[in-house]
Amino acid sequence: MRIKTLFITLLCCFTLSLNAQQTKTPVKSTGVPRPKLVVGIMVDQMRWDYLYRFFERYGNGGFKRMLQDGFSCENAYINYVPSVTGIGHSTVYTGSVPAIHGITGNDWIIQATGKNMYCTEDSSVKTVGSSTEDAGKMSPKNMLVTSMTDELRLATNFRSKVIAIASKDRGAILPGGHTANAAYWYDGKSGNWITSTYYMNQLPAWLTKFNEQKLPEKYLKQDWNTLYPIETYIQSSKDNAPYEGKFPGTETPTFPVKTSEMLGRGMGLLTSTPYGSSLTLDLAKAAIDNEELGADAITDFLAISVSSPDYVGHQFGPNSIEVEDTYLRLDRDLAALFNHLDTKVGKGNYTVFLTADHAVQHNAGFMNDNKIHAGVFPTSAVLKELNAKLESEFKVKEIALSFSNYAVSLNNTVIAANKLDENLIKNSAIEFLKKQEGVAFVVDIANAGSATVPDIYKEKIINGYHPERSGVIQIILEPAWYSGSSARSTGATHGTMNPADTHIPMVFMGWGIKQGKTNNSYNMTDIAPTISGLLRIQEPNGNIGKAVNEALK
Ligand SMILES: [Zn+2]
Repeated sequence: MRIKTLFITLLCCFTLSLNAQQTKTPVKSTGVPRPKLVVGIMVDQMRWDYLYRFFERYGNGGFKRMLQDGFSCENAYINYVPSVTGIGHSTVYTGSVPAIHGITGNDWIIQATGKNMYCTEDSSVKTVGSSTEDAGKMSPKNMLVTSMTDELRLATNFRSKVIAIASKDRGAILPGGHTANAAYWYDGKSGNWITSTYYMNQLPAWLTKFNEQKLPEKYLKQDWNTLYPIETYIQSSKDNAPYEGKFPGTETPTFPVKTSEMLGRGMGLLTSTPYGSSLTLDLAKAAIDNEELGADAITDFLAISVSSPDYVGHQFGPNSIEVEDTYLRLDRDLAALFNHLDTKVGKGNYTVFLTADHAVQHNAGFMNDNKIHAGVFPTSAVLKELNAKLESEFKVKEIALSFSNYAVSLNNTVIAANKLDENLIKNSAIEFLKKQEGVAFVVDIANAGSATVPDIYKEKIINGYHPERSGVIQIILEPAWYSGSSARSTGATHGTMNPADTHIPMVFMGWGIKQGKTNNSYNMTDIAPTISGLLRIQEPNGNIGKAVNEALK
């Protein structure tokens, strides 16, 4: 009897432990050396030289920590045109270019229909997390390739967790790839972080709680004043400069910015202040805690994009106190994020990379006032004149459909209906565009390979060209020229293939990364294969980059 009882007890124990083994996922170790967490940080509109322009007043825990502990590729460039947000985020995470990944702009013209497409537009899904209908009709479905975040998920049979965060929808969605557990972005109308039904039908409880804190309002009630006494901002123009755009309802573009008095304008205002960066990193820390990112041996990925520096840069330009203050504050916020990661994931257990989706040019008026050749190319006005010229020649109205991303799209429906010769139209348009002030080269994109332009321009045009989603004629402006409305307009912009727009930071730090720097040239497409190699996962399926071998231990 006693023996029988013992036998049954043993049998029970054995069965229990068998069941436990069957249901429990073995996560102690994969046997493959990998970091516990990868944190991708993209700073929207960050020029490479901002690492050094404001270096003196950065603390030791943010940008300086990355430069001192990590590995910096000092000459990293965008290798396609146009240099805009949607493409930059896609390229960093896919190692690919518009010709292959299909994201040819923030918006593009679908050449077959002439209709406009926003890069992350998806009418088949709905907003989750607010009642703003359009804000959540978003997904990565327009991206034709996998991202390194997808490849990490595939490599671990979806056991790795991928979370993507940015106040801009495209800054979160494209880095997250097709298989992210979640992408969250900011809805300026409600002040909530939201997502779409592509990812889930309900926000996780922790995010609902995060939204309930109403942090945007709390930040804006603090007003925006400079972090240090304003007279110490010696790296920037005086506060009231003619190159700066004003906040609506204000008299001058100056400090203090009384955001507490602008609450009636809604919570979208937050993104045009450095508090937008702070809120994004608040959410990143909350995601690390609540999603337990980097808590076990299966590598997770947190893709963060900080969008506010782009809004501030567009409004005030690179030589403003507003931009300088935005970076000094971001530096502090980054230091806090790294501290948080040290505590939660452990120093040396995670890998970080820092880069940008594009950089930015100086305001043309500012350059002219300082005797530097620069100008604004009035794209809309030129499109009108081009159409008038084509109409007089071919007797048909509106032959050129759009002029954006520095490329002309033709109205293919009109051309077909009137049986016009596309080549004659292209030749006529090219001759006209060549004569415009500020234009350096005009290229028939389909024949870019044989164009009489420097090789590097050819490569950027071909890399940026997807026949179904790109225009047919490319203009290349003279350096320091950009598309806009008037020569004395305020603020700044990006989009060209010049170094001002395309020289970006590329710094790696943490697990598996050497300390140092290189002056060798690299491309934006080299980040994804570097991280993929580090993680010992397959590179994304549209990758054309090569790993930064000298950065890896
Ligand atoms: Zn921008």
